[in-house]
Amino acid sequence: MRSVSICMIKLGNLYREPPREYNGPVKKNGGKRRRKVRKMDLYGLIDADILEKATELRHELHSMAELSGREANTKRRLMTFLEENTSLELIDRGSWFYAAYRSKNASDGKKRIAFRADTDALPIDEGTALTYASKTRGVSHKCGHDGHMATLCAFALTADRCGCENDLFFLFQPAEETGEGAAECESLIADENIGEIFGYHNMPGFPLGSVAVHTGCAACASTGLVFRFIGKNSHASQPENGCNPSFAIAKLISDIPSAVREAAGGSVREIVPGAVMSADGIVMCTVVGASSGSRTDGTGEAFGTSAGFGRLSLTIRAENEKRMDLLEKLLGDEAEALAAENSLAVSVERVEPFPETRNDAASAEKVRAAAAALGLPPAEWNEPFRSSEDFGRYTKLTAGALFYLGCGEEHAPLHTACYDFPDALIAAGAAVFAKLGGVCRKRKKNVE
Ligand SMILES: [Zn+2]
Ligand SMILES: [Zn+2]
Repeated sequence: MRSVSICMIKLGNLYREPPREYNGPVKKNGGKRRRKVRKMDLYGLIDADILEKATELRHELHSMAELSGREANTKRRLMTFLEENTSLELIDRGSWFYAAYRSKNASDGKKRIAFRADTDALPIDEGTALTYASKTRGVSHKCGHDGHMATLCAFALTADRCGCENDLFFLFQPAEETGEGAAECESLIADENIGEIFGYHNMPGFPLGSVAVHTGCAACASTGLVFRFIGKNSHASQPENGCNPSFAIAKLISDIPSAVREAAGGSVREIVPGAVMSADGIVMCTVVGASSGSRTDGTGEAFGTSAGFGRLSLTIRAENEKRMDLLEKLLGDEAEALAAENSLAVSVERVEPFPETRNDAASAEKVRAAAAALGLPPAEWNEPFRSSEDFGRYTKLTAGALFYLGCGEEHAPLHTACYDFPDALIAAGAAVFAKLGGVCRKRKKNVE
């Protein structure tokens, strides 16, 4: 998940005093809320020995954090773990893999359901004194993907142990942070004829163990845009002999609010200049960098030289992908017009594009029902997460839903050095997955 910002979130019927250590669902008893802990059979689905293994695996994966697209050791460890602990079929696709539980049930009602975990870490220093701190310098799991992997493994072990009427597919996807991983893995949907796919992201700010799922858009589309203006240097005392792109860049920045309003269409409510709420949801453009001119040795400004090169970096974002595409076109047209007016050349580069992630209404309802059956409290909010997710690539191809599991209201935010995935969510996430997959309670193998 990229560039998280949680705003205007309305939390619904949640318990307001989340336990520091979350050991199980909260149940009402005679008007008083009491935590119920079932050590050997959390949520009635995930066995304690599986949880223990998955938690140890999470710590191990945390210590060996790898950046997007370079998760070779992580992938190898996950495959070894599943080989050692399950009889699932493992399908190796090079940079990624998935495990398959193929049911012997031949009935027409059999479903083919996939579950996704992402595997990449971030270029952020660890910033914690954890015993399992990242050993990879400058790289650590600050988005909790180590926890997502551990959760999916706990679920895979449970499905393998308990059996299921459905075919289940456990997808371990690399490179979510750059938006490139789902593009690689989306062939799974057609190859295995997947009828439904689920994934989750942990979410600081929501009460620990609460489940949030949105019908419709769950996460906004976004893309980075880099405009490069090329003009001509001149002596600073003779600007008329050069072509300085700075005024074109400044004008393009000042035109952003009107472009955003036009792209959003109709009547809009401005949140801040460059960000509006429209009938189609949020549309926004954020300036992430702007510069022009510099000394050629990179040591700062050249005060004797009128700039001949400039760069403007923007992130555009919208709940409705079509609105974002329109905003991109409007900004591109304006950049070209300004370049022509100022005798400049301009190029634009698209960086890390993410699709909108749109949940299927029936799939979202299944998540709500699963959470309710497990006693996990719901969270509601009145707009999609602004952060982007490449999970939307799957839900363009099949039904599915991405949901969020609360890490606690005071938990350190995602993408910050102090963040660490809460181990307590492994059981909750695996249990929701098990419910969604239709994993049977009846044991098919002996459990110690
Ligand atoms: Zn992230
Ligand atoms: Zn993430």
